[in-house]
Amino acid sequence: MQNGILVYCEFENGSPRKTAYELLQKAVALGAGPVSALVLGSGDTSSLGANGASTVYQVSSPHLASYSTGAYVKALAAGIVASGCSTLLAAASSPARDAMPRLSARIGAGLGVEVTDLRNEGGKVVGRRPVYGGKALVDVRVQSALAMFTVRPNSFPIAAPTGGSAPVVAVDAGLSDADIDVRVVETLAPANKSVDLTEADRIVSGGRSLKSKEQFDAVVRPLAAALGATAGASRAAVDAGYAGHGEQVGQTGKVVNPSLYIALGISGAIQHLAGMRTSRVIVAVNKDAEAPIFQYASYGIVGDLFEIAPLLQKELENLK
Ligand SMILES: Cc1cc2nc3c(=O)[nH]c(=O)nc-3n(C[C@H](O)[C@H](O)[C@H](O)COP(=O)(O)OP(=O)(O)OC[C@H]3O[C@@H](n4cnc5c(N)ncnc54)[C@H](O)[C@@H]3O)c2cc1C
Repeated sequence: MQNGILVYCEFENGSPRKTAYELLQKAVALGAGPVSALVLGSGDTSSLGANGASTVYQVSSPHLASYSTGAYVKALAAGIVASGCSTLLAAASSPARDAMPRLSARIGAGLGVEVTDLRNEGGKVVGRRPVYGGKALVDVRVQSALAMFTVRPNSFPIAAPTGGSAPVVAVDAGLSDADIDVRVVETLAPANKSVDLTEADRIVSGGRSLKSKEQFDAVVRPLAAALGATAGASRAAVDAGYAGHGEQVGQTGKVVNPSLYIALGISGAIQHLAGMRTSRVIVAVNKDAEAPIFQYASYGIVGDLFEIAPLLQKELENLK
């Protein structure tokens, strides 16, 4: 009989990503059966038990050293079989966005994507997700015996770990060279070492109004640094070369879900809103009081960003 929740825990540099703890703790809070963790590849799994996993299923294989769709989908499927779970949760990361739909089709299990909330309805996990660029929310009830969800990072708070450990069960997914459809030949670390935008808890974004890369670097990045935030940008700023493509927020950029989103000189086009509208607190700085972004902002400052951003930065630095 299938039961419980399996959380696919992604790792980075040998340690679980923040999303692993977020999802494990939420899975426990749902109270929909035992919670276990699925780890693909090697890494330090010792903290997973303290964050809610009662068992860690680990697929170790040299074929999982870097992401490859074929190998990861096969390993995820093996983890599901080993755990006997009725629900699989994964962060809505780039690899999971690639792997989960394929997994869904391969094993015939329904998938709810990009959910920002989860609840337990009579033992069945139900997801809730924003649609139409965040204008409405829909509930996602998966009909198949196994329900799978990808969850937008930062949807749930992370509490201090409670202590405890979990046994590790090795799972053999039978991986071979034939499962590797793409080979990673080189990994280039970004020059910018800040937290990945999709997982960032605070973001400071700049728009076309920054007018040059030099001004973007002189205004947006120092404010982000003073706030312990990650820098983001509108597409207009990226297209103009003020920021990197990996920093673009929006429909054709990254979807972010931070506690705090500061938009500096960004008009609030629907395609930008699609990427940041679920942020908990939105602060907009714009010299046009009629800018659409103000309709979505928790706090709005009508003024020149070149005056306001340095003032905010100075105040934040004084707090340190
Ligand atoms: C298919 C498609 C996909 C798209 N995907 C994305 C996407 O992923 N992300 C995205 O962001 N956009 C996307 N866009 C583009 C989007 O429609 C807008 O063009 C873009 O978001 C505008 O960027 P912006 O707000 O920086 O620039 P603008 O719209 O030009 O706004 C600049 C704002 O800065 C204000 N301003 C100017 N000077 C100052 C100052 N000194 N101080 C304070 N405020 C000032 C102005 O009042 C204005 O509101 C997409 C468009 C299409 C068609």
